[in-house]
Amino acid sequence: MSKDRLQRFLFDDTQVRGEIAQLETTYQDVLVRHDYPEPIQRLLGELLAACALLTATIKLHGTLSIELRGQGPLSLLMAESNPGIGEKSQRLRGIARYDDEALAALDDLSLVSLTGEGRVMITLEPHGGQRYQGIVALDKPTIAGCLEDYFERSEQLPTRLWLASDAQRAAGLLIQKLPQEANPKDPNAWERINHLADTITGAELTKLDAKSVLYRLFHEEQARLFEPAPVMFACTCSRERFGRALHQLGPEELRSVLAEQGQIETQCHFCNTFYVFTPADVEALIADPDASPPTVH
Ligand SMILES: [Zn+2]
Repeated sequence: MSKDRLQRFLFDDTQVRGEIAQLETTYQDVLVRHDYPEPIQRLLGELLAACALLTATIKLHGTLSIELRGQGPLSLLMAESNPGIGEKSQRLRGIARYDDEALAALDDLSLVSLTGEGRVMITLEPHGGQRYQGIVALDKPTIAGCLEDYFERSEQLPTRLWLASDAQRAAGLLIQKLPQEANPKDPNAWERINHLADTITGAELTKLDAKSVLYRLFHEEQARLFEPAPVMFACTCSRERFGRALHQLGPEELRSVLAEQGQIETQCHFCNTFYVFTPADVEALIADPDASPPTVH
């Protein structure tokens, strides 16, 4: 059984809640499809964990993506979550774009040096709801720092994040302070829990299970851990989606590619699946963007 899971927890008599995300198969399923250098693998792992945490925290049923876009050797780092089968489950995918030579020439492999000047875009697309995008500067030393900045500006709920990844696993811890009651029973809970959470190490986060992480950090608190929700790698690409995207290019462009190449080949950047459209498929798409070409190649 997959160990990939997301687990919510809360502290009794306080307004503090949290989530722990732990990814192994999901992370490996993303890495196996690409030949990313190690520093990029690690950052992508952190971003995948962050994506799972944010989706659960915002309680979004829909698509959430986090994109880091910069001017440096790492021009794009992206993770996206989509609802999985069953309540609260998530399907994750991720991708990186980088310049090999520029990366090799880099001595300093910090986030800021890898991405250069840039921004972090968080896009929420709830099912049947309005699309929302929040943008913050990519000017913090860690992905977690940039996302805390996002929460401060957009959600206005104090939120802290710790992210970690090694060659095997990626994990994240998030705590959030909900609006305070008029007469809180435990007015210092947030400061205390925040302080305790700050003692987590990357190795603990990636190696311990959620229960042990909570015990390690909060054994003197009344922390309650909820049932885990499954997380897995899955790509949302399909022949139909690529067909609609091709239709957008217009008949002229499509026929000129056909004349040059005989057929149209597209590949999903996330999962590497190839989609081939024959001249007959393309003509059907020109007539109808939803013509789902029956040919299976
Ligand atoms: Zn795909």
